[in-house]
Amino acid sequence: MKYIEYDVKTAISKSNLPELDYAVNPYTGCQHRCIYCFAIDFTRIAEAREEWGEIIYVKKNLIDVLRGQIKGLKRGITGLSSITDPYQPAEAIYGLTRESIKILLSNGFRVTVQTKSPLASRDIDLFSSHRNLIDVGVTITTIDQRKALEIETQTPAPSQRIRLLEKLHNSGIKSWIFIGPIIRGFNDSREEVEKIFQVANANGSRIIYDSYSPYKNSSIFMKNEFRHPIPDPRMNCEWRTALDRMMLSLGESHGVKVNSQDEEWKVARGEGLGKLAIN
Ligand code: SF4
Repeated sequence: MKYIEYDVKTAISKSNLPELDYAVNPYTGCQHRCIYCFAIDFTRIAEAREEWGEIIYVKKNLIDVLRGQIKGLKRGITGLSSITDPYQPAEAIYGLTRESIKILLSNGFRVTVQTKSPLASRDIDLFSSHRNLIDVGVTITTIDQRKALEIETQTPAPSQRIRLLEKLHNSGIKSWIFIGPIIRGFNDSREEVEKIFQVANANGSRIIYDSYSPYKNSSIFMKNEFRHPIPDPRMNCEWRTALDRMMLSLGESHGVKVNSQDEEWKVARGEGLGKLAIN
């Protein structure tokens, strides 16, 4: 693993995602190296893009820049990160995610985290000090470790992510589970998805889900390494309707709130999170 430190002029930027006002991305590139990853297509640094999972660019002066920049910003919902995993192994060395969250929370910004890493449990003390301003999302594509290894080649095991959810729940931190991507014929069976709903129910998490869509560079990754047929998006319409129905029915039978990624922003804003934004 190669870490390359560099300086940035901007630490926090306006987000293009409707559920977020801002995004902070401390690391460019992601060591987790999921083969379906589409962050590759949103990565400007060619070396990080071309050697995905092997080279991480670290925004060395991020904290100083963020401290200065935040003074002139209206408060809003901030995603950490919006592109790569903020708790990938680089975070254990550099701590940029923790420091960013600390600055954002102490300035009254709402923070939403998404990760696949149990390293996030290191910061439960910080989350606990601002419970009303933070939520933590944990991605679980499948509970089956063997399958997870096929698509998430350098990523903490699903069992570790479940343990993280338990710790968050026990500490009273609001959590959610992202099931995605759901790949037709791979991790879309009712039996398999139901196990994730059981985890959500046990930990008071809601569920957001999305299906697989190919992107330019990420689809090359999938083509080279996915050992199953890659679904053709043109054939997805009926399957997607059936998937939506299945998710709704599982949500009802397990008492878990569930919505698709497409609808996520309406939920985020509708739950009052938006009230904090742009004061
Ligand atoms: S954790 Fe997210 S950003 Fe990192 S490789 Fe996997 S899909 Fe990409």
